Amino acid sequence: METAIWWVREDARLHDNAALVAAAEADALLPVVVVDPRQYGTQPYGGPQSFTFEKTGAYRAQFQRETVADLRQSLDERGSGLLVREGRPGEVVPEIATAVDADTVHFQALPAPEERDAAAAVVSALADAGVQTASHWTTTLHHVADLPDGVDGIDDTFTPFRQSVEQESRVREPLPEPALPPTPALDRLDGGYGSLPTLAELGLEPPAYDDRGVLAFEGGETAALDRVQEYVWEGDHLRAYKQTRNGLLGPNYSSKFSPWLAAGCLSPRYVKREVDRYEAERVSNDSTYWLVFELRWRDFMAFQTAKHGATFFTRGGIREREDVDWADPGSDPTAREQFERWTAGETGIPFVDATMRELNETGYMSNRGRQNAASFLANSLRIDWRRGAAYFETKLVDYDAGSNYGNWAYVAGVGNDSRNSYFDIVEQARNYDGDGEYVRHWLPELQGLPPGYVHEPWEMDRGEQRAYGVVLGEDYPEPMVDLAASYEEFR
Ligand SMILES: Cc1cc2nc3c(=O)[nH]c(=O)nc-3n(C[C@H](O)[C@H](O)[C@H](O)COP(=O)(O)OP(=O)(O)OC[C@H]3O[C@@H](n4cnc5c(N)ncnc54)[C@H](O)[C@@H]3O)c2cc1C
Repeated sequence: METAIWWVREDARLHDNAALVAAAEADALLPVVVVDPRQYGTQPYGGPQSFTFEKTGAYRAQFQRETVADLRQSLDERGSGLLVREGRPGEVVPEIATAVDADTVHFQALPAPEERDAAAAVVSALADAGVQTASHWTTTLHHVADLPDGVDGIDDTFTPFRQSVEQESRVREPLPEPALPPTPALDRLDGGYGSLPTLAELGLEPPAYDDRGVLAFEGGETAALDRVQEYVWEGDHLRAYKQTRNGLLGPNYSSKFSPWLAAGCLSPRYVKREVDRYEAERVSNDSTYWLVFELRWRDFMAFQTAKHGATFFTRGGIREREDVDWADPGSDPTAREQFERWTAGETGIPFVDATMRELNETGYMSNRGRQNAASFLANSLRIDWRRGAAYFETKLVDYDAGSNYGNWAYVAGVGNDSRNSYFDIVEQARNYDGDGEYVRHWLPELQGLPPGYVHEPWEMDRGEQRAYGVVLGEDYPEPMVDLAASYEEFR
C-alpha cells in the first residue's frame, strides 16, 4: 500500500498538473495546502524585499482563499479531499507525512529564492524522516528540461531567449486530469481536514471592490477555465488581441489570465493548446501568435529568476549597476513624501494617478499602466525601484515574483535590457488614452477637463482652471515634478 502526498503550492489545479498525476499513481493520496504565515504581515522573511508592506494584501489573499475553496470542492466531488494547515511547510509537511505514513511527497518546483528555500526545508526534513520527495516543474509554458541550453545557458535578453525556444524547443501537451485514489485515514491527525484561515485571522481587512474595475476576479480553476472559454471562444476576443492589448478599460482588451496563471489554477500549456485549437478552428493571425509570445515573456522572467536567484531582486539588479543614486524613502523624508503621493495616486500627473488608484481599488492594473507607474517612480523620481515593486507585491491580485520584479528591474534599467526604458508619460497618455476616458474613469475630479488638458492640467492658466472646475492645489494636486526635466538624464 503506497501513500502519497501532493503538497499544493502555486499549482491549485487538476488539469495539466504533473505533481498531481505522479501522486495519483499511489494507492492513497492526500492533497495538502499549507498556509505559511510568512506570506502575510510585514517583513515576514526579515529581509529587505518586502520593506514595511504586507507581503500579501487583501485582494490576493481573497483570491487565494477562493482558489483553495474551489480546489477543495473539486477534490471532494471526486471522492478525494483537501487537508489545510497553517505553519511553515518545513515543519507541517513532515508532521503530516509521518501521521499518514506517506512514502512520497510530490510538489511543484518554483523558481524564486523564498519558494526554493521553503521547498529545501521540506525536502531536508522529509529526508530525516525517511520520506521520499519528488519535485515537478509545472509553472511555465516550456518545460525547464526542454530549454535548449538549460537555465544557466539562457540569454539575458528576451529576443534571443524567445527565438531559441521557438526554434529549438517545443511545448509539451497538457496532461489530462488523473483518476484520484482515496485519501488515507486521518485518525492520527488532530483537526480533521482543517479550515482556511479567514482574512481577519491573517490580519487583513476584506478588500473593497470597486465596480469600476476591469473584471471581478474570482479565484480557482473553475473560474480560470471559464475565463478562457469566455475570452477565447464565446467573446472571440483572441482574434484582435494584438490590436487591443494596450487598452486600459474593460474586461476584454487583454486576456486577464494573469491572476489565475500566477496562482497556478491555470496552466500556460492549457492556454497554448486552446490557442492552437482556435487557430485550427477559427483564425490564425498575429494576435493568436502574440498571446503565446506574451506567455514566453512570463517564461523568460521565471527562468531568469531561476538563473540569477537572489541577484534578480537586488537594487543593482542582474546588471549589478552601482551608478544610480537611488533615493530611499526609508531614510530620506523627501523621498518618503514623494513615495506616499505615488502610492496614493496623488502625484498630480493624471495618468500615473489613475493607474495607482485603479491598483489600490481593484488589485489590478493594465500592462501599459504598470510600465508608466513604474517608470515614474524609478526614472522620474529615482526612488529605489524595489520599494515600488514591493508595493505592487502587496497589492496585485496577479503578483508573480519573476514577472513583477523582472519587469520592474527592466523598467528601472537594472534588468534584462541595457536600453534606457523611461516612459514619456504624457505622450503615452495621449497615445493610449487620447480622449482621457481612462483618466476620468479613475479621477472623477477631472471630469470637466477637455482632452487637451486632461493629461496636462498644469498647462491651464488660473482662469481656465476656474472655468473647468479644476483648480490645482485645491481640486487636484500640482504636479510633483517637472516631467520633461526628469527625462533629461535619459536623452
Ligand atoms: C512593473 C510591472 C510589474 C508587473 N508585475 C506582474 C506581476 O506581478 N504578475 C504578472 O503576471 N505580470 C506582471 N506584469 C506583466 C503584465 O503587466 C501582466 O502580466 C499583464 O498586464 C496581465 O494582464 P493580462 O493577463 O490581461 O495580460 P495579457 O496581455 O492578456 O497577456 C497574457 C499573459 O502573458 C503574460 N504576460 C504578459 N505580459 C507580460 C510581461 N511583460 N511579463 C511577464 N508576463 C507577461 C501574463 O501571464 C499574462 O496573463 C508586470 C509588468 C510591469 C511593467
